[in-house]
Formats: sequence, C-alpha cells, structure tokens
Amino acid sequence: TDLAARIDRKSLAALRVREETAFAARTPKSRAWLEAARASMPNGVPVAWMAGLYRHNSIVAAGGEGAFFRDIDGNRYCDFNVCDLAMTMGYGPQPIVAAVSRAVANGAHFLLAVEDTRSVTEELARRVGLPCWQFTLSASAANTEVMRIARFITGRTKILIFDGQYHGHIDESLVTKRGNDTVPIQLGLSARTARDSIIVPFNDLAAAEAALKSHEIALVITEPALTNCLLVEPEPGYLEGLRALSQRYGALLCLDEAHTFQFAYGGLTGSRKLECDFVTLGKGLGTGISFALYGMTRAIADVMEKHLDSDIGLDTGSKGLATGGTTYGSAIAVAAAKAALEQVLTPENYERVGHLGNALADGLETVFKKHGLDWRSFRMGPRAGYCMKPDLPTNAAEASESMDIEMIDTRRVFMANRAVWDAVVSAGPQVSFAHNAGDIARYVTLADAFLGEIVR
Ligand code: PMP
Repeated sequence: TDLAARIDRKSLAALRVREETAFAARTPKSRAWLEAARASMPNGVPVAWMAGLYRHNSIVAAGGEGAFFRDIDGNRYCDFNVCDLAMTMGYGPQPIVAAVSRAVANGAHFLLAVEDTRSVTEELARRVGLPCWQFTLSASAANTEVMRIARFITGRTKILIFDGQYHGHIDESLVTKRGNDTVPIQLGLSARTARDSIIVPFNDLAAAEAALKSHEIALVITEPALTNCLLVEPEPGYLEGLRALSQRYGALLCLDEAHTFQFAYGGLTGSRKLECDFVTLGKGLGTGISFALYGMTRAIADVMEKHLDSDIGLDTGSKGLATGGTTYGSAIAVAAAKAALEQVLTPENYERVGHLGNALADGLETVFKKHGLDWRSFRMGPRAGYCMKPDLPTNAAEASESMDIEMIDTRRVFMANRAVWDAVVSAGPQVSFAHNAGDIARYVTLADAFLGEIVR
C-alpha cells in the first residue's frame, strides 16, 4: 500500500544492522552466559520462547523494580511488554510481595482450600458476573479445562475459534486456516487439531452462524477484543450476537480475558455486561505469580459438582470431569489474587492506567502526523500500538497489514538500545500499573526518533 511505501526499506535494513551491532556490544555478558547455558538447556534458556522472541541473542535478567528491569550487563529497560502482561503490576510490587511472602512462610499449599479463597472467587463473581470459579496454573490450562467441560456438556467435539486468535499453547489453538482447511501452525501437534478446530473471521456473525449450523460445535471461544494480532475491537453488538448464536445452536461460549481483564475494571465481560458461559483469566492477573482462573455459570458448576473429578467415584462409577492439577489453587495463588484485586486492580488504578494508555495513544498519533503518516494508534485501556492505516482493523486479515515484523522487530532493538523494552511482535506497547507519565513521554520520544530514521 502507499502508506507502507512511506517506510524506506533500505534505511530500515541498515538501521537494523546498526542497532543489532550496538545491542551485541551492550550485551556481551548475556551472550556468553547463554552460549555456556546451551550445555544444559536448548538455546540456553529454560523455556524456548525466551530465545524465540528475538532475532538477536536474548539477554539474561538480573532484577527489576517497578516499570524497569536490568540485565546482567547492567543495562536498564523501561518495560512496555511486561512479560506479555504477566507482570503488569511491575517488578516487585509491594502488595504482592507482602502477601505472597506471608503465604509462603505460612505454608505455600495444602491441596486444600484456604479461607481467603472465597474473598477472591466472590470478588471475581461481583466484578465479572459469573458466579463460580476454578483455579489452574495457566490460561492455557484453564482453556483446556473449559474445552473439556464444554465437550462433556454438549456431547460434541469441535471448537469454534477466530482468525487471529491465541488461547495458549494447546492443540486446538495452534492452528491456522489455509484455503478451506484448518492446519497446525507448529510442529509436534496431533492431526486431530485440524479436525477439531473451526476458524472463522472475527466480527462476522454470518460466518460464525454458518459454522454453528453444523451442530458440531461444543464451544465458541474468543477474546472479547483480539489482542494477539495487535488489536481488533468487537463491532457494536458483535459479542452479543455471538452469544445469541451460540445459544441458538447449542454451543457454550467462553470469553478469554487472559489479556483484556487488564483493559477495564471487571474485564470487558464485567464492564460491558457481556453474557457468556465461561470467562478465562490468566497470567496471574499480572502479579508475576503463576496462576489462572476460569469462571462459569451456576448451571455449569452444578455439572462439575455432579461429575466430581475423584479417585473415589464409588457412587457414580466414574472418575468425573478431567480437571485440576497438584499445584493449582495454592495458598500462594490465592494470596496473590487477593492482594491484586484489593490493592492493585482497583477502580482508581484502572482509571489512572487508562489515562496513561490514552496518553500513549495520543502521543503516537501526534508522532505519526508529524511524520506525515496517516496511521492510527490502537487504543484500549492500557494498550496502544501502531496501526499502519487510517482505519482500525475489524479482523485479523486487516490487522495483518500492520503486522510489519521487520519494522516492529527493528523498532524493538532500537528502543532496547535506548533503555526501553518494546513489545513482542503481535502485541502493544502496553502501559503497566507501574508506569508514570514520564515513562510514556520517553516511549513517545523514541517512537518519534525511530520513525525519523525510516520514513521518507
Ligand atoms: N489466552 C490468551 C488470550 C493469551 O493471550 C494467552 C497468552 N498470550 C493465553 C491464553 C495463554 O496464556 P499462558 O501462556 O499463560 O497459558
């Protein structure tokens, strides 16, 4: 497109070489550590993603405070990715540190409920609107359980998902559409995924209805706004329409708010009074502690009670619904969730972060204009970003026109060399609960400098 042509590809390529060279010069200790670590870990990292997110060498973290973290070379970064929203309360947030420290000292886990659990589940019921909750360790695991429960209740197997989706590293989500076929996008997946997942475009009720008409769909699962292909907002009435369709054709509906719970108080489900059967929350609500939750209706809770996952099972002759895990629902997770809800995820803090998110989006739009670019900023609560077109996308295909990986990745290393950690390619930047107005101004200044290097 004409707008993309405004990016000087030669300058961009030269800039990437220059910035990656500078980055390598600033991170020699990290590079040497990672090389040595390959003897005991593939790629030198405990989780492959930590290497796979970057084209240059990864770095090794030394510690963090508030919106900043340090690497072992002594570089400091103001973090606008916040571990893909697993750290939105910042590094070492006092309320979480205090609550979790107390919980660890008092017994981290008992494989029993602790009394504080109810203050979490009752508060979530109040904020989100679904009455009953279960804990897991990750949003991936929460979505896995939701799919199992939906399959059991409906007696169907297929899952309806939306182009641009991501619901975790689970088979049903690691698929894409090629022509009319659903195909796995990664290696090591069962061929069954291609049969079980049906993909349609977001914001297209007719496409969803065509899929639901088969009466084979157990679960419709979507983020209420797609956040894993930059940002795609639901059109007015779309989510309500999806709810009506799922009910008409006997499927259950899950809104995955692993990310969007941080966009508004109560998530989009609570703040927009959306109806659904399940809601997934994840990423430790941004506390940095590993846990996730899913909410459900009373009717679904009744099914869970009737089909209790149990080793005893004498009276039902069944082992019940396959849910749970040994480390799920620990006292640590409960303590972190309670402190987060009561002390960080408050209406005032959501409002403050929403203002900062708007300031970031406004700042980006001012910079785009300055460089003569008819671009928009993504804008939803704390989330901003670079929409490289005058109109915001309504689906993943449109969003992909702003997914300029070469530009985004070069921008990230450009910013890293200037003490800002920018987002992974499909995300933000996003404001955290630890950022302040000065951090936002710094990001906008760098965005201006970056575009100054590559816009003709
Ligand atoms: N759902 C959504 C919407 C996500 O964005 C993610 C992670 N990016 C997940 C689920 C999975 O979360 P986790 O990796 O913590 O299991």
